Amino acid sequence: MSATHDDAPVAARVRHVEALLEQRGWLAPGEIDERIDAFAAGGSPAHGAAITARAWVDPGFRARLLADANTAIGELGYSMAGGLQEQQLTVVANSEDEHHVVVCTLCSCYPIALLGPSPGWYRSEAYRSRVVREPRAVLRDFGVELPATTRITVWDASAESRYMVLPRRPDATEGLDETALAGLVTRKGLIGTAVV
Ligand code: FE
Repeated sequence: MSATHDDAPVAARVRHVEALLEQRGWLAPGEIDERIDAFAAGGSPAHGAAITARAWVDPGFRARLLADANTAIGELGYSMAGGLQEQQLTVVANSEDEHHVVVCTLCSCYPIALLGPSPGWYRSEAYRSRVVREPRAVLRDFGVELPATTRITVWDASAESRYMVLPRRPDATEGLDETALAGLVTRKGLIGTAVV
C-alpha cells in the first residue's frame, strides 16, 4: 500500500487493522489486496472459459497460449496487469496422460482476472495442505476419478506466478460453436478440480 505524506497516518491505521484481522484468521494474508485487484480487473470465470473455448477451436492460439499466456490472452482483450504489477500467467493443458491442478499452498494466490474471486475451498487450509500430499484423493473428493495411468501435476501459485488449467475438450462437441463451448467450462475445470 503506497501512501503520500497526507494519508500516511490513515494508511498505517488501515494496515494495523488488516494485520489484526489476519492474525485472528478472519482474513487471509493479502486478501484485501486480492479483492482490490479483482475489482480493478473485473475478473470472471467467463474470461477463462472464453480463453479455453478459443484454444479448443484454434490450434494456433492454443500453441501461443501454452508458450506465452500473458501475450496470448491479450488477443482476446484480457490482461494479468490489472493489479499493482503484472503477474506471470502459465496455462497448463490437461491431456489423456496428464491432469493439472492449481493451489496456493502459502495463501490464496489465484488468477483473479481470468477466474474472478477464488472460491472458499481454494483458500481453505484443508485443500491447500492436502492437494499437494494426496492430489488423487482430493480430486476424488471433488468427483474427479482419473485413470491410474494419468499423471497428476500440482502447480503452486505465488504472488508473482499464477496458473490456469486448460481442460480437455469433451467428446461429441464437434457441432458446438465457440460460445457454446465456453458455456461448458466451469471455474473448477480451470483450477483442475473438475474435468471441464
Ligand atoms: Fe497465495
